[in-house]
Amino acid sequence: MIRALNGEKSEATQRMKKCPFCAEQIQDEAIKCKHCGEFLVAGVQRFTEEKTRWYFAIPFIVVAILTVGPFALPLVWFRPRTTQGWKIAITLGTLVVSWLTYIALKEALSTLGQYCHMLK
Ligand SMILES: [Zn+2]
Repeated sequence: MIRALNGEKSEATQRMKKCPFCAEQIQDEAIKCKHCGEFLVAGVQRFTEEKTRWYFAIPFIVVAILTVGPFALPLVWFRPRTTQGWKIAITLGTLVVSWLTYIALKEALSTLGQYCHMLK
């Protein structure tokens, strides 16, 4: 009898999970917490993934900026979930990095040129 009760109890707790927002026990299948009313992470992620197109995903934008530099900036500007402040910050950051890369490249080429001159 005791064993049966214990088994029932563990089965019941297995189907429960902890709410990440208020730490209350809630049903495993719950999408919304009955204690605090927050939507649970998995559900929210699915929701935002549906709304965000793949080329607006942050990893893709980062790779795009690293490979094509300022040419990837329209992706940042057309991304609906980026705030104005971030757009300006990312644009300025990308332009500064591109400019520094350009200067470094020019410097490297002129150094290389000098070496070639010395070899003659
Ligand atoms: Zn909760």
